[in-house]
Amino acid sequence: MNHVDHLVIGAGFAGVCAAIKLSEDGEDNFLVIEKDSGVGGTWRANDYPGAACDVPSHLYSFSFAPNPDWSMAFSQQPEIQAYIERVAAEADILDRFRFGVAAQHAHWDEEALHWVVDLSDGTTVTATTLISGSGGLSEPKLPDIDGIDTFAGEVFHSARWNHDVDLGGKRVAVIGTGASAIQIIPELQKVAGHVDVYQRTAPWVIPRNDRRYTGLEKFVFRHVPLLQRLSRTAIYWGRELYVPAFTRNPKLAWPALQLAKANIARGIKDPALRAKVTPDFAIGCKRILISNTYYPALGSANVEVVTDPIAKVTGDAVVTADGVERPIDVLVVATGFHTTEQPIAEHIVGRGGATLADTWRTSGQCAYKGTTVAGFPNLFQIVGPNTGLGHSSMVFMIESQVAYVRDAIRTMRRRGYAAIEPHRDVQVAWNEDLQEKMGPTVWNTGGCASWYLDEHGRNTTLWPGATFTFRRLLSRFDPENYAVVPAHEKEEAIA
Ligand code: NAP
Repeated sequence: MNHVDHLVIGAGFAGVCAAIKLSEDGEDNFLVIEKDSGVGGTWRANDYPGAACDVPSHLYSFSFAPNPDWSMAFSQQPEIQAYIERVAAEADILDRFRFGVAAQHAHWDEEALHWVVDLSDGTTVTATTLISGSGGLSEPKLPDIDGIDTFAGEVFHSARWNHDVDLGGKRVAVIGTGASAIQIIPELQKVAGHVDVYQRTAPWVIPRNDRRYTGLEKFVFRHVPLLQRLSRTAIYWGRELYVPAFTRNPKLAWPALQLAKANIARGIKDPALRAKVTPDFAIGCKRILISNTYYPALGSANVEVVTDPIAKVTGDAVVTADGVERPIDVLVVATGFHTTEQPIAEHIVGRGGATLADTWRTSGQCAYKGTTVAGFPNLFQIVGPNTGLGHSSMVFMIESQVAYVRDAIRTMRRRGYAAIEPHRDVQVAWNEDLQEKMGPTVWNTGGCASWYLDEHGRNTTLWPGATFTFRRLLSRFDPENYAVVPAHEKEEAIA
């Protein structure tokens, strides 16, 4: 059986970052497995028309790999995909990546003190540490709508776009009005014959202050890196200004609310349609979306916004609860992802034989510092529970977590630890404190249902504070909060 020191699951921003930093530390005996055919993760999967980032490019990139050539303030998907491919290639790590391979089952071997991971290609790998970068938004959530299986036309999820389908002149239905849908709909409006938009809950959408970087700016960023760093820092602090409005006092979001209302007024002329698309919950409760083209698209002659609930789908139409049948050729489901019940949790088995999913069944998903879990030695989750953001760059959070994992590995080597896992009471205290902070946030009190909350109404996805606080808390691995197994005990157990 093949053994590696570190097995990394996923080759998105998290997996690539982990691989680069392991390599920098001389931790060269690692393997990255990725179910897709190349690096990119969510940015490879979400290649639907109009896919772009709603965090500014200079912040939505690795701090250690600045890109002076970003063409727009907010990058389009192909440019982000090209960036991550380039960074991975230049780091000279891709020889340790295996593509088209998924982790099917992983269990902690309590005797050998390592992970045993069965891969989809039929092989098994053992690994001292298991670093999961499998992504918080990677498993499409399909709507459970009566008859959807009987639809005879093409149906696909936003993250599984079927580029072989020619949408020109077609009648298309889009279910959902989240971050993905509002980027897709303006593109569909341009090419499709007719678009029905099935809106269950209207989102708040503010203008997208996008612009092209000039040649001079790119030149300056390339030749005066300090200026690029300053620009990134300014963007960073601008985004952090949202935090008090999200976590302490939703009234502080008043300026964003005015921007959103003005965006509706500017984009849509018809008062009835304006009313239909105006949300009834506090701004920020769901992710604040950005677009200049969404509302004008909704107001176009070939688009209808349908707010009656969907009753069923037939062979060739969507039928709403009021009995109206709208025939279509193509159905796009932009209905989001499994976020609070990560499918990978079903396949990771810790000490005592419990899966991560079993462990989380009653408590909801939780971890210590969003990264480690009692009962699951040497497992590190990048973008784990309560590490998501509503306002800033996930790349910042990923780098913070990878720094923590690196320090954990260094500590294990230095002190001769074979296994580490957080003390259960430490993990419980971390999460009690976190949930207390979550209490007054707009995500919990703003009057909306969102993917941030689990079935019990607990917010197990977002970080309830400033990102610099998260970074500080993860800046040092804290062995005092962990149960450790010294390496000599492992050797004795094996002997
Ligand atoms: P999402 O935010 O979860 O939105 C899903 C949409 O589908 C919602 O409008 C939801 O309505 C609707 N929906 C779900 N099930 C439905 C059903 N059975 N019937 C009718 N409507 C249904 O998913 P997403 O748009 O894919 O975005 C997910 C996250 O990905 C975002 O929040 C963001 O973090 C990230 N993202 C970022 C970007 C970007 O950077 N620009 C782009 C895309 C995605 P309800 O609101 O009523 O639940």
